[in-house]
Amino acid sequence: MSAKTTAPPEKMLFQLTLRRRGISDLAVLRAMEEVPREAFVEPDDRGDAYRDSALGIACGQTISQPFVVAYMTEQLGLAKHHRVLEIGTGSGYQAAILSRLAGHVLTIERFRTLADTARSRIEDLGYHNIEVMLGDGFAMPEQLGQFDRIIVTAAMTEIPEALVQRLEPDGILIAPVGPHHGVQTLVRVKRTESGFDRKELVDVRFVPALPGIAKEL
Ligand code: SAH
Repeated sequence: MSAKTTAPPEKMLFQLTLRRRGISDLAVLRAMEEVPREAFVEPDDRGDAYRDSALGIACGQTISQPFVVAYMTEQLGLAKHHRVLEIGTGSGYQAAILSRLAGHVLTIERFRTLADTARSRIEDLGYHNIEVMLGDGFAMPEQLGQFDRIIVTAAMTEIPEALVQRLEPDGILIAPVGPHHGVQTLVRVKRTESGFDRKELVDVRFVPALPGIAKEL
C-alpha cells in the first residue's frame, strides 16, 4: 500500500464503528471516508473529529454524531440525479456528505454566522453542488420548488404539512420528531401515489428547530 492510500488509524476505526453499528451502504461509507470531518469541527476539537460523538459548534449548536449522519443519509436512498433540501446546515458536514451522493444540495440555516462559515468551508473543499442559504426552514419561499429528498437535522415537534408537500412524487423526507429537549424519534415519510407513508426509525437527540432567522449573529 502506498502512503497515499493508508488511512490514519482514527479514520480506520471511524469506518469500523460505522460498519459495526450497521451502516452497510458502500457509497455512504465512502462519502464518510472522503469528507474530512476535522474541517467542520471547532479547532480545539480536531483531535476528536473521528470519535462517534456530536460536538459543540458556534451559536450553541452541534455537529451531529457521525453514526446519525451516516444512518440518515443511508435512509434517504440517494441517487446522483436527486435534488436535496437540508434544513439545519450547522457546520455543513451533513450537507457535504449528501453532496457526494446526490445531484444538488440546498441547505438552509437560521444563524448567519453558521451559514457563512459553512459556505466558506464547503467552497474551500471544492464541493460545487451545495448551496448554503440563510433562512427559516419553516418559511421557505415558494420559488425554491420541489425536492426529491428532504432531511431535517433539528428537532421538530411535528412535521409541518407544508414541508411534506415539497416532496416530489416518490420523494423521501427524514426528520427527528419529538420534544425540543429530550429524545426524539427519527421519522421517514415517503410520498406515494396515494399519499404519504410514515415510518418511525430510531431514537435520536437533536437541537431544536426554531422559527425565524436568528436575531443573534
Ligand atoms: N446538520 C448539521 C447539524 C445540525 S444542528 C451539521 O452537519 O453540522 C441543527 C441546526 O439547525 C442548527 O445550526 C440550527 O441553527 C438550525 N436550525 C434550527 N431551526 C432552523 C430553522 N427553522 N431553519 C433553518 N435552520 C434551523
